[in-house]
Amino acid sequence: MISQTELINRWQGLVTELADVKLLAVSKYTTDELVQIVMDAGQMNFGESRPQSLRDRCQQWPECHWHMIGPLQKNKAKYIGRHAAMWHSCDDIETAQAVAQHVAGRELPVLIQVNIADNQNQRGVAQHEAGALADAINGIEGLKLEGLMGMAPREGDVRQAFRNLRGLRDNLFGGSFAELCMGMSSDYKIAVEEGATIVRLGSTLFASR
Ligand SMILES: *Cc1c(COP(=O)(O)O)cnc(C)c1O
Repeated sequence: MISQTELINRWQGLVTELADVKLLAVSKYTTDELVQIVMDAGQMNFGESRPQSLRDRCQQWPECHWHMIGPLQKNKAKYIGRHAAMWHSCDDIETAQAVAQHVAGRELPVLIQVNIADNQNQRGVAQHEAGALADAINGIEGLKLEGLMGMAPREGDVRQAFRNLRGLRDNLFGGSFAELCMGMSSDYKIAVEEGATIVRLGSTLFASR
């Protein structure tokens, strides 16, 4: 396991490197102990990919912001409506309606996940479908559409995929103010160069090397 000193050094290095770009610490594979260490160092935003884990950690650490980044089934919508600080992986109108029923008076920030990998197996709406989903989400009370999220292909032109997502964000939101959540451990430097406002980092922060 990574030592406390090494973890804090890595976190500090990333915070400095990322400057204005928001760091989402993806804690889905990580122990409570390591989560607590980066939290004590000052990290506030965490990403989880399973609804129950997000709920559990949100109840354990309600002072932090818990972001949903994984696939969501309708029967788990309540965990996200109640507990998520932001839902990054919205790609379906019916699930969005289900989540909205559980937000209890607040407005949940939502990103549309767009498939920018040119790979049918990847999650997210096709690029040409993002506008229609955006219109639909804008019509749902309790949700607040704030931008787009995407994952680059494992092989192929990563930079071009990020450029496509940025272009789509600029088109749909009329400029560059909305969130652009892209970049993981292997490709976040490219994502930042291409205009990411949020990066999602798991292994480069928490994993032993
Ligand atoms: C797990 C996960 C990440 C973090 O991946 P790393 O390569 O460990 O940084 C980012 N985004 C999503 C959607 C994930 O599921």
